[in-house]
Amino acid sequence: MPTALAYFGGRYVPVSEAKIGVMTHALHYGTAIFEGIRGNWNPEEGKIFIFRLREHYERFLQGCRMLKIELPYSIEDFCNITVELLERSGYQQDLYIRPLAFKSSQMIANLKLQEIDNDFALMAMPFGSYIDTEGSIRCCTSSWRRIEDTMIPPRVKISGLYVNSILAKTEATLAGFDEAILLNQDGLVSEGAGENIFLVHKGTLHTPGMSDNILPGITKDTIIQLAQVDLGLKITERHIRRSELYLADEVFLSGTAAHITSVGEIDNRKIGDGKTGPITQALQRLYFDVIRGKSPRYLQWCTGVPIKVTTVKV
Ligand code: PMP
Repeated sequence: MPTALAYFGGRYVPVSEAKIGVMTHALHYGTAIFEGIRGNWNPEEGKIFIFRLREHYERFLQGCRMLKIELPYSIEDFCNITVELLERSGYQQDLYIRPLAFKSSQMIANLKLQEIDNDFALMAMPFGSYIDTEGSIRCCTSSWRRIEDTMIPPRVKISGLYVNSILAKTEATLAGFDEAILLNQDGLVSEGAGENIFLVHKGTLHTPGMSDNILPGITKDTIIQLAQVDLGLKITERHIRRSELYLADEVFLSGTAAHITSVGEIDNRKIGDGKTGPITQALQRLYFDVIRGKSPRYLQWCTGVPIKVTTVKV
């Protein structure tokens, strides 16, 4: 039987044993960095393909630098620990992999990043679709604005920053929408609560850039490469106005959890004919093969982990 394990305190333990104290700095102030990585089960090969593992840990370490979190692990160490966690867990299904680096001191009256202990934990859990990727979703423009780089840098995955996304997603879903689109302080399109955003206009892809306070998405980077190399499309990174989204031919969101999710409606206006457009479909087809290790051209993006149920050990 697969087991829910964590790498915690330098050991592989049942997730139920991976506990932190109530005085932990990160719990009070959001002083942690996390990643969201997918492991995609390929039954024909009997392997889980971890998608762009190294790039996720590169971004993770950038976040750690931002929060002055020093850990005794290299990128290779993180990758090896992740592979071993999956081997030991024995899951033969799609997984979500969550590394977390956090300020671990039991020290709450301290608003500094220095002179505090750091720790690392890693979890892997079964995970299907995050938002319905079969059809198109309905989005709204959030009344919450994306946090500026001058407030909390949104280019790295700082736990505390995600209150911004959570406020937006809560507002959107309570109002009956599937996802929120956040504008930045200048009223320009930034990104979804947990996804980057693209629009298609006359066969060209357009997407906001770093100066719009986006997270530099690994899925976004993947899409840009697939669109250019495999579909021969042009992509421009530029400021996008809300009204351009309404009038686009296609809009889609991209993220590790959300994959490529077609947006059929924004603020109760149909995008195109409201269905998944041809360019979004073409990208989805390519992308779903790539992340499952089925595309030889992009195998270097996948870390294949053979899973034998009998190898499960704690
Ligand atoms: N923006 C935000 C705010 C996110 O949380 C995510 C998910 N990590 C993304 C964009 C997409 O990033 P990625 O493709 O690397 O998952």
